[in-house]
Amino acid sequence: MSRAVVLIVLALASLVAGAGEPLRLDARGSVQVAFTPGDDAGALVVEALRKARKQILVQAYSFTHKDIAQALVDAKRRGVDVQVIADRQQMESVATSRVVWLAEQGVPVWIDADHAAAHNKVMVIDNGTADAAVITGSFNFTHAAQYRNAENLLLLRGNAPLAEAYAANWRRHKIHSLPLRARQDSP
Ligand SMILES: [Zn+2]
Repeated sequence: MSRAVVLIVLALASLVAGAGEPLRLDARGSVQVAFTPGDDAGALVVEALRKARKQILVQAYSFTHKDIAQALVDAKRRGVDVQVIADRQQMESVATSRVVWLAEQGVPVWIDADHAAAHNKVMVIDNGTADAAVITGSFNFTHAAQYRNAENLLLLRGNAPLAEAYAANWRRHKIHSLPLRARQDSP
């Protein structure tokens, strides 16, 4: 389905549903699920990031997972449009946060301080393409989520309207988020 068709479908769906109504979409595509402890959810995220060809949109609460951060930087360096929105309080209070490091590596980062917690743990990969994927669940992009907590992670691939819905939500949060300037850019 083309991006234009997806947008029209979503616009019509929102008209039918009315403001504030949750979006209802058909299930389609494939689903992978990982549970921690037990499954390597972090590796599933990294694998999906390595397959990205066009764009990766991230919403992160706590973000300390080095392999996931490195996979985002690697994607950026091979020409993928990578953009990250992160929670301010977690970035400022977690000493091992990788958010500032991502900005220092050239990844555009925005900080969302508009909520008690910017609590989404979401990645939207290659929205608008046949391979569009959404990653979501309770799994923060952290070592704690992988090795200490009980979490779940979904990788939903091949559901273009779902990917566009998550991308649209990402864009809504970007509007009120502020760009994080990397240290080397500071005066
Ligand atoms: Zn927000």
